[in-house]
Amino acid sequence: MTRLTAMREHLGDDFPLMVDANQQWDRPSAMRMCRAMEPFNLVWIEEPLDAYDYLGHAELARVIDTPIATGEMLASVAEYVKLIEHQSCDIIQPDAPRVGGITEFLKLTTLAAQAGLTLAPHFAMEIHCHLAATYPIEPWVEHFDWLDPLFNERMAIADGRMIVSDRPRLGVTLSEQLRAWTVDSCVITGAERTVAPANAGIYPRRAT
Ligand SMILES: [Mg+2]
Repeated sequence: MTRLTAMREHLGDDFPLMVDANQQWDRPSAMRMCRAMEPFNLVWIEEPLDAYDYLGHAELARVIDTPIATGEMLASVAEYVKLIEHQSCDIIQPDAPRVGGITEFLKLTTLAAQAGLTLAPHFAMEIHCHLAATYPIEPWVEHFDWLDPLFNERMAIADGRMIVSDRPRLGVTLSEQLRAWTVDSCVITGAERTVAPANAGIYPRRAT
């Protein structure tokens, strides 16, 4: 709470500020902390509880004025359906690579939009910038500049908004540094089989 107070004083009352608890609270602690944070005018409080505590999140979303965000850890459309059906959050945070790709992501965001949820995809903004742009309610997109070495291009940001690239496909190409970390095939330790993808992906080098 001391850090939050300092940040709000430093940034001013109107600067968008969020808190991410990363699933660290139990239900009583989450309720107490979320109530204590109400005066800070947060955009959202993220993952106050275990990612699969649909009922606990729903109770927070019901009684706390600050929007509750969660969803980054879920790994299937079916899990997001439970989140939406339980009214567990105000802001949903799906991760396209984690949920199974762009098609699965769009399935769940169709349901989320129908439920009136705000979208704030987790991580991988090179993909999510495009997907968020298709959402009918103005979304948020996270930004991690420490991913910059992976790509030759940079995400364009102006006035706090991410600009959707008009380059082909996702608009990024892999950097030489990332290519150096990829291999055409590898042996998964303990699995006793060789994986040889048709297209070189991101796979760990063989353990030596
Ligand atoms: Mg998070």
